[in-house]
Amino acid sequence: MKTITAFMLIAAATLAGCSRTPPERQVIDDAAEALGGAAPVRSATALLLDGGGTNGDLGQNRAPDADLPLFNVSELRHAIDLANRRARRSMNRVEADDPTESDSQNFGWDNGVAYNIDAKGMARRQGDIVARERQAELFLHHPLALVRAALDDGATVSNLRRDGDTTLVDITTSQGEMVTLGVNSETHLPVLARSMFYHPNLGDTLRETTFSDYQAVSGLRLPARMMTRVDRYPVADLTFTRQALNEAIEDISAPSDVRSAEAPTPVANVTVQEVAPGVWWLAGQSHHSVLVEFSDHLKLIEVPQNETRALAVIAKARELRPDKPLTKAVVTHHHFDHSGGIRAAIAEGLTLVTHERNRALFEELAKRPHTIVQDALARNPREARIETVADDMTVKDAMRSMRVFHVIDGTGHSDSMLAVYLPNERILVQGDLFNSQGPNPKRMAIINKRFEELGLRIQRHVPIHGAITPHTEYLKIMRSAQPTAS
Ligand SMILES: [Zn+2]
Ligand SMILES: [Zn+2]
Repeated sequence: MKTITAFMLIAAATLAGCSRTPPERQVIDDAAEALGGAAPVRSATALLLDGGGTNGDLGQNRAPDADLPLFNVSELRHAIDLANRRARRSMNRVEADDPTESDSQNFGWDNGVAYNIDAKGMARRQGDIVARERQAELFLHHPLALVRAALDDGATVSNLRRDGDTTLVDITTSQGEMVTLGVNSETHLPVLARSMFYHPNLGDTLRETTFSDYQAVSGLRLPARMMTRVDRYPVADLTFTRQALNEAIEDISAPSDVRSAEAPTPVANVTVQEVAPGVWWLAGQSHHSVLVEFSDHLKLIEVPQNETRALAVIAKARELRPDKPLTKAVVTHHHFDHSGGIRAAIAEGLTLVTHERNRALFEELAKRPHTIVQDALARNPREARIETVADDMTVKDAMRSMRVFHVIDGTGHSDSMLAVYLPNERILVQGDLFNSQGPNPKRMAIINKRFEELGLRIQRHVPIHGAITPHTEYLKIMRSAQPTAS
């Protein structure tokens, strides 16, 4: 009798469990209800958001521990085509600290395909890494798109948990995309979305968007404010002053030539120019390097952009002097476009030389997991070796003298910037201080003062950006723009 009762109780509990919505599912149902109801969420076709806010410039802060430079964003228009899984964002951006720096952006995501549209209206396909980031940035990190996707028959919801007053579940969409949804445990309104993506510098990286200022929009409740951070960096704070639901929106599909194009992957083109005996300028694209020969080894200045470029530059350096080991790479500053090759350099056994304020960041970058995409260092793990320069350091042997010094910039670009001077060749190697293709005379004057303080007798600039330029030309550009200062 006792056994039968226990059996019946278990059976009753099982039956009750079967008829109840699983608790993870209930989170989605409650969230849909809080947004206005499952039916209008499911049948929503399009959302148009207009507004503005700020954008942080990831990887371009003054120092590794400084806040990101901010752009003020205006004319923001974000269109989401829910029915066809497409989104596009356009905006004007002006740098908050330097209004002369501005741009317009127009970029989209169409069901797995990312593209950018330039000022002339020409669309270009972007790589798969960008597409994965955009899937969150433009589409799934909006609560309407995310809850709608979670209601889909093919979606799964798992890993129910609580963190303070937030209830979290992991959603795998019918397309296999994984996003964590957080809802307020009281109101059931979505408060955050989280997903992982691959960033070439940061590796496996968390993107989190938070939702607030919910407002009534044509029968639904939708957030008027969305803030995003990537890893620990706040990259967007956007407010929508107008939200339009289910209105006709323009065609935001990827143009057919974009859709049919291969997703691009980075390519490296390394040109070689011997600028002095045993000194080579390795150019060919936007970011150059310089190879310097010593009696029994070689040193490289800059491993920029990405591992494709860095590995090609390193291979070229070894090809030029196969009998001497390439031992070190000077990294001018931590900005992500200039430090994009440091993990590849570590994987190749090079010691990094950089300003002391960059050490902690470089150590962190060397250790971060790269599992979503396995880069050179993930495939060939090595301990990072980092040497730092605080102010001014000269390395010298029978063949060469090389001075590596801190540039006290004073223009806000970078506080942990190094430049390199070869006194016998009278060559200066620098990144982002002077670019012949877009000189910044204010910065040139400030930096020239530093050159004078250090007693440099520069004859030629052999730069990381732009063309090789005589110093006389540098002074001419600097003075023509600042007649009163000269
Ligand atoms: Zn820079
Ligand atoms: Zn640069």
